[in-house]
Amino acid sequence: MKTVHQPDLKKMSTLKLGGRARAALYPENELHLEEINRNWAGIGLRCMYLGKGSNVLFTEDNRDLVLVKWKGRILPESIAQDRDRVLVLVDAGYPLPRLLGWCASRGLSGLEGLAGIPGSVGGAITMNAGSHGVEICSLLTSIWIWTPEKGTSQLQTGQFSYGYRWFNPGGISGNPLVTAAEITLVRSSPQNVQENIKRFYLRKKRSQPVLASTAGCVFKNPPDGEPAGKLLERAGFRGRQNKGVAFSSKHANFLVNLGHGSSTQALDLIAQAREKVFELSGHELQLEIKTV
Ligand SMILES: Cc1cc2nc3c(=O)[nH]c(=O)nc-3n(C[C@H](O)[C@H](O)[C@H](O)COP(=O)(O)OP(=O)(O)OC[C@H]3O[C@@H](n4cnc5c(N)ncnc54)[C@H](O)[C@@H]3O)c2cc1C
Repeated sequence: MKTVHQPDLKKMSTLKLGGRARAALYPENELHLEEINRNWAGIGLRCMYLGKGSNVLFTEDNRDLVLVKWKGRILPESIAQDRDRVLVLVDAGYPLPRLLGWCASRGLSGLEGLAGIPGSVGGAITMNAGSHGVEICSLLTSIWIWTPEKGTSQLQTGQFSYGYRWFNPGGISGNPLVTAAEITLVRSSPQNVQENIKRFYLRKKRSQPVLASTAGCVFKNPPDGEPAGKLLERAGFRGRQNKGVAFSSKHANFLVNLGHGSSTQALDLIAQAREKVFELSGHELQLEIKTV
């Protein structure tokens, strides 16, 4: 199994912050996962599954952290179809943008709203990534989960639950790794799917800093009232800078690393924003990004 010692966390997340971890491991099968459980988790190190690191804020102090980047061997493939629908099997390590391209070339529709989300399929499922009215978990018919206790289990729709930015593989405790998924898509034409992807991507690009170093939305939208971006804007945080990091002036809920930021600066700015929003609106904003 490929193993990188003391990887630079700046290179492992889209926000490009953080110090060094103990190791990054690249399992490709169950034997590798068992080895990780024995030799790394088993000696008390913190193991974290990482996709593309596009929803993570790594801090400087992570010397006992072991990153586990799953990459099985399943390329996307159509495994069943009827007149209108096609069932696609895909590995959890597969990049979401590449899956959208694969769908476009075959004229399979359903995921286009997720254009511009730079995650992996597994990370997208774990976060129930959503955009433009599409939530990835609503398209799943089945997923495969690995845990140290039970090995691999397949869960069908109804055996897992999900909601706004959360996913719960019901009844599976411990630290579950999503290894693969079956997604139901609808037949369309390559041109149609390609046009949809382009339209949604351009819409995203107009309102979000998609080309900057960010980790997507910092905060979840509160269950009622205004979205987090609006609350931050009202609290004066749109474009607010703290040395090397700033809330984007394009979208107040995106934290941008200006190139020389640190995680301490980012956490300070996040704390200031939470405090001010609470003071002005009474909303206690919850983090969407994972701080590690
Ligand atoms: C420019 C930009 C735009 C974005 N736009 C959106 C958007 O519109 N909508 C949206 O929902 N999100 C958005 N995001 C956030 C992010 O891209 C998504 O949440 C994405 O799905 C995360 O995938 P990832 O592979 O990068 O996960 P990571 O950041 O690597 O991990 C996120 C969490 O998932 C866990 N995880 C990852 N892979 C697995 C696995 N295989 N099994 C178990 N757990 C796993 C990690 O442990 C971590 O807790 C955006 C981010 C950026 C940078």
